[in-house]
Amino acid sequence: MFDLSRKVAIVTGASRGIGRAVAEALAGQGAHVIVNYTRSEALAEQVVQGILGRGGSAEAVRFDVADMGRAEQVVSEVAQRRGRLDILVANAGIAIDGVLLRIKEEDLDRVIAVNIKGTLACARAAIRVMMRARAGRVVVLSSVAGDVGNAGQAAYATTKAALQGLTKTLAREYASRNITVNAISPGLIETDMTAGLPAPVREHALRGIPLGRTGRPEEVAAAAVFLCSDEAGYVTGQILRVNGGLYV
Ligand code: NAP
Repeated sequence: MFDLSRKVAIVTGASRGIGRAVAEALAGQGAHVIVNYTRSEALAEQVVQGILGRGGSAEAVRFDVADMGRAEQVVSEVAQRRGRLDILVANAGIAIDGVLLRIKEEDLDRVIAVNIKGTLACARAAIRVMMRARAGRVVVLSSVAGDVGNAGQAAYATTKAALQGLTKTLAREYASRNITVNAISPGLIETDMTAGLPAPVREHALRGIPLGRTGRPEEVAAAAVFLCSDEAGYVTGQILRVNGGLYV
């Protein structure tokens, strides 16, 4: 089950956290994985070396997803060089926290550029290639903040809710070409993004999680492997919530 051998996958933001776990999991199922990053070259190289060390196949490719033209260019170049592109996991994302009354315009612009425009750019370039193959899998990373909102994350929650609209729209637009588009909406997952949460905020969040613990990046990666597999061929336009039962 979930055999991804001979498939080519791009995972954006794969130097750390959830993206890293997704890259490792896809490679573990046999895919050749493009490990994208924007700043952490050494970490991305470590991810690649780890995959190669386990007999998998991967390469690190740097680009800032927020630079739409460059992101589209790199995604198409990779597809051309490898002769195919089967999977895009649009995972790269940032959070710049703040309540509405305190958000600076430059921060809002950056969060929108990385989270929304970056996802759109990579999806557009990937789907262009997938349309010719009449097959493809796109997985977008949304967030519980996009599902139900989160006080103090006005910009971030806005973008993550927008990605759910994008996911459902792309699912409808490209279903006839056998391209599925789904989102994963994680709850509180242990990564650098959540490492700095103040203890009271963390404790409050934990009290609301029926499973009584935070999630691991590998648990999000397992959902991504499923959505990227042939076995998920009849699943599209869905938001898969990996959140410990945070709300049901
Ligand atoms: P993270 O630990 O902060 O890692 C972010 C990754 O994205 C890094 O690999 C980073 O690359 C990359 N990245 C950031 N900006 C980029 C850009 N402009 N272009 C290319 N890559 C970029 O984040 P995470 O917690 O793993 O989150 C991954 C995704 O899941 C995000 O979309 C996030 O919103 C979503 N999510 C996370 C949680 C959670 O609890 N952690 C919950 C819900 C949703 P560099 O290392 O090069 O900077």
